[in-house]
Amino acid sequence: MKITNHKLIGEPDEQISFVNSPNQSSGISPLYLIMHYTAGPTLSGAVSWFQNPDAQASSHLVIDRDGTIVQMVPFNQRAWHAGKSKWGSLESMNSYSIGIELVNAGKLRKNASDQWINWSKKVIPDSDVTVAKHKNESSETGWHEYTEEQLEAATKVCALLHKTYNFTDILGHDDISPSRKADPGPLFPIDSFRSIILGRA
Ligand SMILES: [Zn+2]
Repeated sequence: MKITNHKLIGEPDEQISFVNSPNQSSGISPLYLIMHYTAGPTLSGAVSWFQNPDAQASSHLVIDRDGTIVQMVPFNQRAWHAGKSKWGSLESMNSYSIGIELVNAGKLRKNASDQWINWSKKVIPDSDVTVAKHKNESSETGWHEYTEEQLEAATKVCALLHKTYNFTDILGHDDISPSRKADPGPLFPIDSFRSIILGRA
């Protein structure tokens, strides 16, 4: 894959497409890469939400569980993924970051039938769930696991983005909006991801 005119171009064997989101604006200095989960289990759900003007939300990339990548906003345009957010002296991080959404149902709880469900009551099979404690929370709960294919695709595309835009750091939404957001959550290996992409701990 390569980046041409701020758009990802895939090789024939790579599943990369562009679906434009109306939820974007001009003016971005991409100092940070911000990682998210979609809080839903399907790519199509996330892509159609970001195509809906009422959502007032978008991200530059959505990465499916099989490694398929959909770009929805060019990298030189501001995507609307961070909302109210702050890092150091910077606020409204959409102006300073490229946003990556990973398809993942997110934080889970048990229903009356002892099944793991997410906020929209989607049932996630036990085999795809790990119990863990979020760094900003005090107790454990279930979280939807990321897949190997998805993390591989994220590593590959984020390494290319870093080569192109030279980020200062990689952060989670839960770092820049800690009181309202839990994504990408405890199952996203942000420390190793950061050291692989940026080449440092
Ligand atoms: Zn988020």
